[in-house]
Amino acid sequence: MLIKNVLQFRYKLYFNLVNKIQVRNTSQSSVGFIGLGNMGSNMAQNLLNKGHRLVVYDVYPEAMAALADKGALIAHSPADVANKCDRIISMLPTCAHVRQVYCGDNGVLSQVKTGTLLIDSSTIDPQTSQQMASEAQTKGAVFLDAPVSGAVPAARAATLTFMVGGNAIEVEAIKDLLLSMGKNVFHCGPVGTGAVAKICNNMMLAISMIGLSETLNLAKNLGLEPQLMTKILNVSSGRSWSSEVYNPVPGLGQNLPAGNEYKGGFMTQLITKDLGLAQSSATRVNSPTPLGTLSHQIYRLMKNNGYSDKDFSSVYKFFQDFDQKS
Ligand code: NAD
Repeated sequence: MLIKNVLQFRYKLYFNLVNKIQVRNTSQSSVGFIGLGNMGSNMAQNLLNKGHRLVVYDVYPEAMAALADKGALIAHSPADVANKCDRIISMLPTCAHVRQVYCGDNGVLSQVKTGTLLIDSSTIDPQTSQQMASEAQTKGAVFLDAPVSGAVPAARAATLTFMVGGNAIEVEAIKDLLLSMGKNVFHCGPVGTGAVAKICNNMMLAISMIGLSETLNLAKNLGLEPQLMTKILNVSSGRSWSSEVYNPVPGLGQNLPAGNEYKGGFMTQLITKDLGLAQSSATRVNSPTPLGTLSHQIYRLMKNNGYSDKDFSSVYKFFQDFDQKS
């Protein structure tokens, strides 16, 4: 037992040392980016702005063309990205997309080089991150979950918060890269804990956005304009990120989806997915989440009734739809 522990310790030391050397060597190498949607396109753009050489891939050629115009190299598949890069970031919609990109035909793991750092910023469940990490380990690569908080405006302004799960040395090794796209990096613990932080944050976000929307709608129905109610909330105990930064009422904030018919931003289908991840994780550990459950149901109703592609702050409009019917 003692011998086994000593051997494991020595292997860990060796593995960390090798990684450190490889990280040092990769600091000037190209960074791969897979998934160039609302978030990924802005994050990739910030990497270019900070002088990183970038190799990009998305199933939509238009998404790649926009970044190629700004100096990125276009790859033909996730495998091609793996061939060209030893640090790869992915920003994909769901667990299924992540599995496809890493483990599918022409996936990253089919061509990944030993020591490659795989950084997944998609919001997925902790178990999928852990499975991806095991798969990556069999190929000698390292998978870290690094989901983000902050919506499209934060992705654009490079002010995202990263919640990272992985080994401390590897998290340290990717910190500068993450700080090219964000301003906070939290090491949460082993692989999967970044996802835990993210799904808990988003459950809170959904609950507070719904709470704010029904509050502002009630105030309006009782004769108090949402603008004044918002001002009061923002200097009172009811304030939240949603009321201060991401107000759901059209015209109450600048450059927000609410002022653009709820286009762009964080789609209702994605927050519904995140709430589903929180629910299945809560069920797994038998943790009561009554408001999380209700939020999930409200967003699922919206998703199935024409709100799927609208920003999640459109829950304010959804309440108004009900007002008009009753
Ligand atoms: P999005 O749908 O706008 O972008 C996803 C991109 O992935 C698309 O361009 C799509 O073409 C691409 N893609 C899908 N399958 C692919 C594949 N097999 N290979 C390559 N590319 C593929 O989504 P988004 O809003 O950018 O969100 C991405 C992730 O970030 C989600 O997990 C979401 O929950 C999370 N997130 C979003 C926000 C937000 O405000 N939008 C904020 C924080 C976290």
